Amino acid sequence: MVKAVVGANWGDEGKGKITDMLAEKADIIVRFQGGANAGHTIVNNYGKFALHTLPSGVFYNHTTSVIGNGVALNIPVLFEEIRSITDQGVPMPKILVSDRAQIVMPYHILFDQYEEERLGGRSFGSTKSGIAPFYSDKYAKIGFQVSELFDEERLRDKAVHVAEQKNVLLEHLYHRPAIDVEELLDTLRTYREMVAPYVCDVSLFLDQALRDGKTVLLEGQLGTLKDPDHGIYPMVTSSSTLAAYGAIGAGIAPYEIRQIITVCKAYSSAVGAGAFVSEIFGDEADELRRRGGDGGEFGATTGRPRRMGWFDCVASRYGCRLQGTTDVAFTVLDVLGYLDEIPVCTGYEIDGTVTTDFPVTGKLEKARPVLEKLPGWKCDIRGIRNYGELPENCRKYIEFIEERIGYPITMVSNGPGREDIIYRESALKK
Ligand code: GDP
Repeated sequence: MVKAVVGANWGDEGKGKITDMLAEKADIIVRFQGGANAGHTIVNNYGKFALHTLPSGVFYNHTTSVIGNGVALNIPVLFEEIRSITDQGVPMPKILVSDRAQIVMPYHILFDQYEEERLGGRSFGSTKSGIAPFYSDKYAKIGFQVSELFDEERLRDKAVHVAEQKNVLLEHLYHRPAIDVEELLDTLRTYREMVAPYVCDVSLFLDQALRDGKTVLLEGQLGTLKDPDHGIYPMVTSSSTLAAYGAIGAGIAPYEIRQIITVCKAYSSAVGAGAFVSEIFGDEADELRRRGGDGGEFGATTGRPRRMGWFDCVASRYGCRLQGTTDVAFTVLDVLGYLDEIPVCTGYEIDGTVTTDFPVTGKLEKARPVLEKLPGWKCDIRGIRNYGELPENCRKYIEFIEERIGYPITMVSNGPGREDIIYRESALKK
């Protein structure tokens, strides 16, 4: 049985918490896309952690954590992350790295920085982790696959070829030092030693695991609106954030994915540039940012303050549809307890016409939010475990949003911890 945990929006919806919680009853947790450019924050009995590359299941003894072929693998970051969790008392996790995963190279990170500098004000707000140059090279077929680390001759040929091409750009476009092939090969040999004990034919491993009846969780990074095809292009990430891509990025059959848990936060936040229709500013935004998440809405990787907004039914309905949602996990609801009334974006007005369908980027940039206000519940809902015990206005908020997005909210998260969850029956659940 395979379940995917993915985001409906711009990321930071609380996928890490939901994955960590579901991992208790899973055997294998797989990262299938993205790299160390975004993070999950997890609070559990060992403490508080920001993970970037490791799957959020690494905190249990019974789970195997897998880096799938679809991931942009930054080997030093992976090892630094393993060290940081074991330093905090977490037992050494069982980790497997796909032999088909490709490697983020030091020059990918440099190119990311140089390009952002070159673009200046026209930049995409990259986290400068090398992700866009990495995926560009993967599709230009000049990336380095983990398996290639073990073939010295192939490695040298490729390093020479890549340096030739990159050095033209380094010299003439960016006016920066060239890549030295011997230095690059030394780095790759160090990577080989680091990663060797974990390398695995992940697709074969998962095939056997599924035959043995194991439960596999696919953990997505970011959310639908950052998908390069279906998101707010070009302000998107460079690998698909959709559950469907989980099949490719892990190497399993698409029909194996039986449950798609799409995580939606009870309000909106976004990082980086791009249209954000329900965005709020000033004191209103500052207060939500300060109270949001667990200790404020600031990037887990970059520390950047996140942009804030009200819940967006248009974006979330679209986000859930593209994911193929079977269940919605509605998170961080406890944070809204301070508001007298809670605005919700229920439509977009574009050139005088109101729509509930999420448009392409050009139109999105012209959209103005249609807001409806719901009464707040003005109390702390943390600690509640039964849906019926939530204040009536809180239930009304959940049910209003469920109706507008059209997908069943079966989990409500009312705190950052594993136990802060309310399971709920939904009439929409087929
Ligand atoms: P992810 O990338 O989707 O995993 O999201 P992040 O980790 O960036 O952001 C989620 C933040 O909200 C983290 O700090 C979590 O600890 C916190 N969080 C998750 N669920 C809840 C919740 O229900 N209530 C509160 N207050 N915080 C939560």
